[in-house]
Amino acid sequence: MPDQELINVEIDSNQCPCQLPKQPRKPLPEGVSPDRATIIRRFGQIWVNGTELHYCFWDHTKHNCPKEWTAKNTESLKIVERAFREWKELGIGLEFIKVDDPYDAEIRIGFMEGDGNWSGVGTNILKARSNERTMNFAIDFTQLNWLPFDTALHEIGHTLGFYHGHQIPKSKIIWNDEEVYRYYSAKGWSDSDIKTNILDKESENVLDLFPWDTNSVMHYRFKSTLISGPEPYNSTGISHTPYLSPLDKEIVRKLYPPLSSQNYIPLKAYRSYSAILQSGEQLAFTIKPDHSREFTFQTFGKVDTVLVLFEKDGDSHRYLSGDDDAGYNRNAMITHKLFKDREYVLRLKMYYAMDRGETAVMMF
Ligand SMILES: [Zn+2]
Repeated sequence: MPDQELINVEIDSNQCPCQLPKQPRKPLPEGVSPDRATIIRRFGQIWVNGTELHYCFWDHTKHNCPKEWTAKNTESLKIVERAFREWKELGIGLEFIKVDDPYDAEIRIGFMEGDGNWSGVGTNILKARSNERTMNFAIDFTQLNWLPFDTALHEIGHTLGFYHGHQIPKSKIIWNDEEVYRYYSAKGWSDSDIKTNILDKESENVLDLFPWDTNSVMHYRFKSTLISGPEPYNSTGISHTPYLSPLDKEIVRKLYPPLSSQNYIPLKAYRSYSAILQSGEQLAFTIKPDHSREFTFQTFGKVDTVLVLFEKDGDSHRYLSGDDDAGYNRNAMITHKLFKDREYVLRLKMYYAMDRGETAVMMF
């Protein structure tokens, strides 16, 4: 574990932590209650467990992109790849697959100096156009300390749906606003960057899954002068050991439990499966059609859900189709042709349940 001198690298240096862009809000129909909208928007940013996420490094020698997006050295690519492995090796149910074509990738990574370290949050990255970046690193990856790997873990954390640890509603930090503006303005941040990345609380981040964890890889380190309270942070500042904290690991495993531990429920045509689910809970079904034809999958009940259909291909799950009824007075429905002798997985995620969360799924 690095010593205190190394832990203070960021605090003492002029290197900027992450500058998260303001995240888009999912549009919802009029009349959706604020509680329902909050839950739909936040759970909507968490991936359906079992999703395969493809990542690609922009490279102007191979892709049609600005030269500045290309990594300056292979060390950068190695460190980011190692950070994907570090998250995956926790046993989470998401897969990360490196691809060469940015058009095949949900996660498109650039290395533009002077453009900050940032990433879109969770499924918001799907809103970026395929010729855009969803993640950028401005950090110097050749420096010999913990900061490059820590930054890579942090940005991937955003892609997994994490916001900043110091901005969650449970954070008790009382800011010395004037000093925060002075300090970060001197680093070249706009007032809007400072509000978005430090001072604003994430009102949409309502999940109980996210406690205030000052050791989280998603929590910035702060000098004591930036903090008015509570004790002891206004005299000690907030620093922490690098890399994933024990709580980071626990939370990501709750969001994306290991697939091997998941209970797959066999789903048969014309037989409904009913369950009572809490917001954020997921179910997984396996389907082995006995003949090839178009099948329709639908949820029932006064619930906001997302349904996603995958085809099993060895150990991996290939995305086929999805539907999201969140905020609308209809139910999620997918129609897709399935083939005999192949195996499919249907995943259902509950966003928001009116009444008791009673829902049913049927294939017909
Ligand atoms: Zn960040």
